[in-house]
Amino acid sequence: TPSDPLLRVEGLQVWYGHAHILTGVDLTVGRGEVVALIGRNGAGKTTTLKAIMGLAESRRGNVTFDGRPIGTLPPHAIARLGLGYVPEDRRIFADLTVDENLEVGRQPPRPGAPHWTPDRLFALFPNLAAMRGRRGTRMSGGEQQMLTLARTLMGNPTLLLLDEPSEGLAPIIVRQMADAVRRLKAEGLSVLVSEQNTSFAAAVADRASVLEKGQVRWSGRMADLMADEAVRRTYLAV
Ligand code: ATP
Repeated sequence: TPSDPLLRVEGLQVWYGHAHILTGVDLTVGRGEVVALIGRNGAGKTTTLKAIMGLAESRRGNVTFDGRPIGTLPPHAIARLGLGYVPEDRRIFADLTVDENLEVGRQPPRPGAPHWTPDRLFALFPNLAAMRGRRGTRMSGGEQQMLTLARTLMGNPTLLLLDEPSEGLAPIIVRQMADAVRRLKAEGLSVLVSEQNTSFAAAVADRASVLEKGQVRWSGRMADLMADEAVRRTYLAV
């Protein structure tokens, strides 16, 4: 039903070989909500996003998206249901231009999700508009990050999984990225964003789930996390 969360993760576990990396992650993302997945280096943020997307080989637990169990589906089937994944390492096609990269991501419109065109994306990322014919090899890290996000949006996802979008970006680009995430929310997109940068998370997120050693140890409103220095000192680098 529409009041159910869009994404529900229960008891998600992941192993890499014998290493038990996620020991039971529980979280939800509501419709139209931006949720930050926060934690120190190595807490398991990237692993959580990959496992939701079906990219962790050895996983266990319940993941439902829009009421459907997706915990055993392969990544392409999960993407087809409307999840868009933006990894932390930029995945653009370096030999292709900005326009060509966007075309690679193009999918048919999806009922209930915003419909993206290159023109709408260039309004969201004005920097990219000025370099439509440029190849990926001649773009900065921040520009590549924006192009990776823009290309994922061309798939018209309902839920975006964003892995550390602010990492390694100059402060002005971080602000543009935060602006873009807020505008995506205003368009109706739901977002699960992993971050070490609590000020970026505070600028975009409604709620937060704090990961430590492969489990969610705290969850609540992002504003409450920012107000609670004791929690931040316990689980995060303050
Ligand atoms: P970061 O900010 O560094 O990305 P993270 O919170 O995203 O941190 P993960 O990348 O999910 O953390 O890593 C969680 C743990 O799993 C770490 O201890 C890491 O060393 C380990 N790990 C990650 N990928 C693998 C892998 N392919 N094989 C074995 N161990 C891995």
